[in-house]
Amino acid sequence: MKAYKGFPELHGHRLVVRQQEMRTTTMQAQPIVNPAFFNRKKRHYIIRLSNNMHLRDQVRVHELPEEVLVGWFAHELGHLIDYLPRTAANLLKFGIGYLAFPNFRIGAERKADIYAIARGFSAPIIATKKYILEKSSLPSHYKTRIERYYMSADEVALMVQKKEKEREKLRMDKLL
Ligand SMILES: [Zn+2]
Repeated sequence: MKAYKGFPELHGHRLVVRQQEMRTTTMQAQPIVNPAFFNRKKRHYIIRLSNNMHLRDQVRVHELPEEVLVGWFAHELGHLIDYLPRTAANLLKFGIGYLAFPNFRIGAERKADIYAIARGFSAPIIATKKYILEKSSLPSHYKTRIERYYMSADEVALMVQKKEKEREKLRMDKLL
């Protein structure tokens, strides 16, 4: 709910959050394919989350620090923001691109982070990334995948810093 409150654009859509067995990913945000799928304004969405982090059951999702969970959900909700304006055909194209082209996937993951950061979730997003790569005992192949497809914590911090500088400059320009 903490993450969800920051995404008012989604509040008019039905959103299902389901915890279930997942083979490869830990969380996944998708549109639901039903008759409403074809109507952008009424489309339903689902966030699936695994019940563990694929670590031979070492870390259960509900045992994650709260800020890490908020960052994770904010990232998933960021994906939904990216889906909102897309037509059904465009979403299908997106799905294929995501699965088939690594660069497409990298772009989609960056966008999800950027939408979450723009809504004030940079600190939780950074906490999530740091947790995954530094604190957790995830297997190295999982970390390699994360490093390949996702923005690093440093990159997010730099982006936030840059935006703050721009904002500061605008403020100064207005004063002058
Ligand atoms: Zn993602």
